[in-house]
Amino acid sequence: MQSDKENTSILLVYTGGTIGMIENPVTGALENFSFAQLKKHVPELQKFNFNIDSCQFDKPMDSSDMDAKAWRKLVDIIYKNYDRYTGFVVLHGTDTMAFTASALSFMLQGLCKPVILTGSQLPIGVIRTDGKENLLTSLEIAATRGTSGQPIVQEVCVYFENKLMRGNRTTKLNAEDFNAFRSYNYPDLANVGIHIRYNLNAIHYIHKDSGLKVHTDMNTDVAILKLFPGIQEMVVRSVLSIKGLKGVVLETYGSGNAPRKGWLLDCLSEATSRGMVIVNVTQCKSGMVDMDRYETGYQLKSAGVLSGYDITTEAALTKLMFLFGQGLSVDEVRNAMMHSLVGEISMD
Ligand code: ASP
Repeated sequence: MQSDKENTSILLVYTGGTIGMIENPVTGALENFSFAQLKKHVPELQKFNFNIDSCQFDKPMDSSDMDAKAWRKLVDIIYKNYDRYTGFVVLHGTDTMAFTASALSFMLQGLCKPVILTGSQLPIGVIRTDGKENLLTSLEIAATRGTSGQPIVQEVCVYFENKLMRGNRTTKLNAEDFNAFRSYNYPDLANVGIHIRYNLNAIHYIHKDSGLKVHTDMNTDVAILKLFPGIQEMVVRSVLSIKGLKGVVLETYGSGNAPRKGWLLDCLSEATSRGMVIVNVTQCKSGMVDMDRYETGYQLKSAGVLSGYDITTEAALTKLMFLFGQGLSVDEVRNAMMHSLVGEISMD
């Protein structure tokens, strides 16, 4: 592993989030501050012997406000600068980082460079901040090349608290701990201690670089429907009859189970036969949907519900947006949901 220091340039994109926030002395609320101030708080940035350029969203946003338009903006920045930089580090709020990482993994097809999203639980100006380590290590990883001279990481990742993870496998699991993200169903791509240990077998490499192709059309006619004991027919029926709704992530129990209620199956069957794509994703943090395991899962399969296998809700939802955004037919979307496009599911 090596770093070609002379020819290495990283673009740091600041979208917003806690990492770049400062406390308003009057209200006490956290507000975004400028990138110039970020550099002031992290003088270590100047110690890297590779080039770091930066740009930021005007204006920086709390990641709760992220949407398809903001993803498009981010994709445009990466696309326009793709040839000029070795890699990209995106500073992002933690709340929806897993959704953005998943969306970017689909929107940036043919990616052969690192796009590393990171953020922090404490603002970077705070003494005990976790933001400095997250930022500095993300930059170091983005600038590292393998023995071939190519970037060692060539996919969309999340780096948080000593772990580099495949972006579309991550979930935010803790609102307070520094250790806030997990990739439950896929190994970490690197673990960071004294050394940065890359898990080369887990990193996705494209065999033939045929250039970056960006897809910026995301169709947001999608929804998440989470089952719970006592859920009423009216709730399910209302969601599934939303006009124009094309895809639903159905969050089920355990290995993909749902109550054995006639009305539920009727609602689901009616919706799938109308062309709605419904994907079964487990509410469990890890493990996968297996609809053949129990009668309660099998009945969903008979109602036309697709297995999401071990996909996260974040990846399933953004994958539906991406596929419908391509203008694919229902059959094409159904087929693509059952295959891995960019390593988002383990079964193929
Ligand atoms: N609300 C913030 C955001 O997601 C939280 C964070 O950055 O951690 O933008």
